[in-house]
Amino acid sequence: MKAISIDVGGSHAVCAAVDGPRIMAAERIHVPDAASFERLLPQLSSAIVSVLNHCGLKPGDCAGVALSFPGIVDPFTARIFSTPKGKYDDSAQVDLRKWALECFGLPVRIENDARMALLGERYSGALQESDDAVMFTLGTGVGGAVLSGGRLVRGKHWLAGLGGHLPVAFDGRACICGGRGCVEAEASTWALPEICRGWPGFAESALASEPVLDFAALFRSSGRGDPVAIAVRDRCLTVWASGAVAMVHAFDPEAIVFGGAVMKSADQILPFIERYVHEHSWTPWGKVRVVEAALGSDAGLLGAVPLLEESC
Ligand SMILES: [Zn+2]
Repeated sequence: MKAISIDVGGSHAVCAAVDGPRIMAAERIHVPDAASFERLLPQLSSAIVSVLNHCGLKPGDCAGVALSFPGIVDPFTARIFSTPKGKYDDSAQVDLRKWALECFGLPVRIENDARMALLGERYSGALQESDDAVMFTLGTGVGGAVLSGGRLVRGKHWLAGLGGHLPVAFDGRACICGGRGCVEAEASTWALPEICRGWPGFAESALASEPVLDFAALFRSSGRGDPVAIAVRDRCLTVWASGAVAMVHAFDPEAIVFGGAVMKSADQILPFIERYVHEHSWTPWGKVRVVEAALGSDAGLLGAVPLLEESC
């Protein structure tokens, strides 16, 4: 099956033509801050036309359009309910079905970006053997998604399994979702600068001279023995691991996969989380497999075919 696949991120979007588990061609679009989704649509359409032309395809050669989107969405009506504040604030008014029909004569489906990454990893990545799995994506925010009995767990209002917003500290930091002490508020790229700056001893830490306080800087400084960086790193690792244990007890998976840009430092992340999950999960049947995502930033695009193939 061929499909048009679109991965909408916070700072860029990628439009691709996919053929089953293979990306035939892709084009990347820069998305300015606080972008309007309505205004992005014509850019997406022209990038798709250019990608299809490059592959020698007509829209009718594709089964449909699949979108990976950073928010709460209804995959089957292609409606968007909620996005992180300041990003695509107008998206609830966008009629994606009308857009896809008018531009390409095709049906459209949309899914939360972490669920799309999970679908991609299940289809052709690290989870090909698993019908019961949990995914975390560590990046600007923290995404979470669940597959149970081979099907995505979505819930009544499309909220189920959003692991980034599981509270791991009831008296913790305020989160963008309105919650407190969520995994994302306690350990994500957007939260990290404030966490570091508020840490005792920050002014004397190597982190204070880092131009960008991201996880690359944190792992670099902790690797050189900086005590503040080590303490912040260990707290973030424990936050992610606690979120993983919560997902194990909520959904009973056989595997947990970690992806996202922060996983460039996988060698400093996975062994800790694996050990913690094995020590702190109640799994009399055995041990949950803790693995790294295999598809990198392609995972969301490769969720297109399984999403379009899924029955309502
Ligand atoms: Zn939250």
